[in-house]
Amino acid sequence: MRGQGVVKGYAIGRAVVMGAATLEVAHYRIQPEAVQAECQRLKSALALARDELQGMVANLPDDAPREMGALLTVHSMLLDDPMLAQQTCELIIERHYNAEWALTTQGQILGEQFAIMEDAYLRERGADIRQVIERVLRVLSGSTVLLPRLSEAPADEALIVVARDISPADMLKLRGGRFAAFLTDLGGPTSHTAIVARSMNVPAVVGIGNVRSLVRDGDVLVVDGATGAVLVNPPQFALNEYLRRQAAYADDRAELSLLRDAEAITLDGVRVKLEANIELPEEAAMALEAGADGIGLFRSEFLFMGRSDLPGEQEQYEAYASVVQTMAGRPVTIRTLDIGADKTLDGDIAVAANPALGLRAIRYCLANPEIFGTQLRALLRASLHGKIRILIPMISHMHEVHAVRQAIAVAGAELEARRIPYASNYELGAMVEIPAIAIAIEPFIDSLDFLSIGTNDLIQYTLAIDRGDNDVAELYDPMHPAVLRLIAHTINAGERAGKPVAVCGEMAGDASVTRMLLGLGLKEFSMHPQQLLDVKKEVRLAHSNALRIKVASALNRAERIDLALLAG
Ligand code: PEP
Ligand code: MG
Repeated sequence: MRGQGVVKGYAIGRAVVMGAATLEVAHYRIQPEAVQAECQRLKSALALARDELQGMVANLPDDAPREMGALLTVHSMLLDDPMLAQQTCELIIERHYNAEWALTTQGQILGEQFAIMEDAYLRERGADIRQVIERVLRVLSGSTVLLPRLSEAPADEALIVVARDISPADMLKLRGGRFAAFLTDLGGPTSHTAIVARSMNVPAVVGIGNVRSLVRDGDVLVVDGATGAVLVNPPQFALNEYLRRQAAYADDRAELSLLRDAEAITLDGVRVKLEANIELPEEAAMALEAGADGIGLFRSEFLFMGRSDLPGEQEQYEAYASVVQTMAGRPVTIRTLDIGADKTLDGDIAVAANPALGLRAIRYCLANPEIFGTQLRALLRASLHGKIRILIPMISHMHEVHAVRQAIAVAGAELEARRIPYASNYELGAMVEIPAIAIAIEPFIDSLDFLSIGTNDLIQYTLAIDRGDNDVAELYDPMHPAVLRLIAHTINAGERAGKPVAVCGEMAGDASVTRMLLGLGLKEFSMHPQQLLDVKKEVRLAHSNALRIKVASALNRAERIDLALLAG
């Protein structure tokens, strides 16, 4: 089988199939006089499920991912929503369905409503409803046991969780267990399964589609978390091959870990900066652990997402200051709120006609000065603890740069008036992710302190390919000569002006294109901490000047660059 590999690594073990309550509920009609009692049974189950979730929020382990509490709270709020309790009761009253049947029917109705929503973030909330309903069905059936067969498995055997989907609450229970991998039918790279699996460093494959129907409890599974391949009861020769790959991968990781303190320097002496992308403040520790030279991108919007309120100035200040303190003098780049397109705030339900081209990122912030001002004040206060690089996403016009400077001045004046201590210890930079600014880069590089190329969006806007749309995913081509020319043009402008230019999109962490990026002249890469040592290994084996000559001659002719020709 094949799904989407979201956490690298190999696992070989036995399947533990998690039940999906929705598929197995009893359907029967109740007597008219019993409808009120049935409604009450439903409401009690909703209340019990909500109490359970709230209990979990209150007792979250210290090492649980930060977003876990927010996700559990969202689930407990859904349980209170009239669309569940009231409308399900109406089905019981009108159609005389039993509570389980009414609940699954209501789940289908809501599921269909969410499935046709244009906004990808809202569509994903359909998964939350489904998970909440599963939880209530488990309560109704009197079973809250998640993995009934677990105790029967020999203690030394690796176990692989197989599920339709894994809710944040279930993920929390699974964290403490001894699981070697996670496989799910649903979900994508930003699903809860992926997020938590990543923080546990456990291989995971999501979006398989039919894993639950093809795998039985106790089957032997082989999982390749990089390619998304899953083998079920493989023959001995295949098992041997994967045991070999698993051992080789472990050796590679051990060898790579030796590079942690080695310098990222090319064979011809070019020193390269390798920084980390983080989404939550706690991940700064992971960046340090991986030997990062700094934080090249803190996606601050993750502080704002999956909650019903906005983080206030104090909460944001503490988050930013904690990253600055953890990084102890290394550069910390904090991107201002990049909301809109595929990332929306709860409650912002108005969907633009074309969200990727709409009121997104800096456009959203300039249109919402209160939200932006709160963030800027928090950043200025955090800069008391060390220099901050403020990074503005989705800039396309110089007047936006001026407006940002103005907003920062206002934020400073407000703090001044409130006599709150702050510093103006910051540099200001912009993301290069709209082709227009890469093409007309000079005024931007002149007026800003640094630039960071967001290749994820730059590719989407250059090639007119929605980065989240599977139907056109094959045309999403990081190696398109037009994309590479824009990157090269930006790096060259930075070199001429003596200002730093980084790449912080996914390309920066892909070791197979490290040599190509060095050939474009890149000296600053920012990526997920897990990818850092792979990239460092490539840097240390590369001859930067030789690569620059090869890459420049291909780009001059707008030819595709053959990565094999750049290999050492
Ligand atoms: C990018 O666009 O390359 C980027 C780093 O930002 P994001 O992926 O958060 O849009
Ligand atoms: Mg972007």
